[in-house]
Amino acid sequence: MKVSEILASSTKAYPSLEIVPPLRGMTKDELIESIAPFMEFSPKYINVTSHRDEFEFREEADGTFSRHLVRNRISETTVCAAIMSHYGIETIPHIICAGTTQEEIESKLDNLEFLGINNIVALRGDSMTGEKRFSPTPGGYRYASELVEGIRKYQGSASYQRKRKEGDRYFCIGVGGYPEKHFEAPNIETDIANLKKKVDAGADYIITQMFFDNQVYYDFVDRCRKAGIEVPIIPGLKPLSTARQISLLPESFSLDIPVELTEAIAEAGNDKEAIYRTGTEWCISQCKDLIAHGVPAVHFYTMGKSENIVRILKECF
Ligand code: FAD
Repeated sequence: MKVSEILASSTKAYPSLEIVPPLRGMTKDELIESIAPFMEFSPKYINVTSHRDEFEFREEADGTFSRHLVRNRISETTVCAAIMSHYGIETIPHIICAGTTQEEIESKLDNLEFLGINNIVALRGDSMTGEKRFSPTPGGYRYASELVEGIRKYQGSASYQRKRKEGDRYFCIGVGGYPEKHFEAPNIETDIANLKKKVDAGADYIITQMFFDNQVYYDFVDRCRKAGIEVPIIPGLKPLSTARQISLLPESFSLDIPVELTEAIAEAGNDKEAIYRTGTEWCISQCKDLIAHGVPAVHFYTMGKSENIVRILKECF
């Protein structure tokens, strides 16, 4: 089922879960086991992130994010196929422009369609290690809006139409939105105008970057609506789990952490469990408030962790 249909038919908010594909060497059984704790909540689908070859940010046990050269992460398509065949639930691969040509993306779409996957999230991705600014791969896309447009165009093409009667609407497309502005945008107005380009190009809904102050999300939705963006905007949350993230998350994702949360973490001192609990409880209260405000779904950046997410799901859904 397409996310657009799920959103249109849902009568109450549901959890949306995002996982990161395993590194080479991890087995299918380990992947299946790692997401097993989520299954008691009958998720409607699982998002699987996509990673360009060069590097990634990994959350270490001490809460730091370190940069690693990774050339052999299992592909999002393979992970989606494994989850679908084991759990029989929908999966949503992320597709990125970074490090990919347009033709490679078309091939990826053919493979997804072969598997019966008709939901994707279309993103630009980030620059390579050592690169200051994102530069597109030769023959690739520069912006996510171009990617969305390219997907719709490909599916509207004569060769594609021969294969599929549904034509250019086969895929339901989600895109990313930034309540605190994408770090490269000169201001929030320009960023929202660029977000609208993605929707105008054919995106069906938006998932936001993580935020820790719900007012930021509510203001963002208001601005989007005023700018003429009418598609659903799913809020994205990540529970803070270590003291180090107080500085690392703003640095990595260009966002603010509210003073009440930084103070609560400071009060916990060196007590790692208390910090973890505080971050989880903050996320629970954010989630409950969002649901009370009528959001259609809440997207969780699980970062491969399940304990805190499971607690949040138990309390909120
Ligand atoms: P874009 O929408 O292309 O925007 C990038 C920048 O360009 C913005 O500053 C925007 O204002 C500007 N811009 C856009 N269009 C134009 C235009 N026409 N003219 C001028 N400026 C323009 N990254 C991954 O690598 N893999 C993932 O799986 C992944 N999943 C994500 C999931 C979500 C929900 C979110 C919010 C982010 C995710 N990211 C992922 C991170 C994302 O790739 C980065 O944040 C990236 O820097 C921007 O991607 P985007 O799709 O928002 O880019």
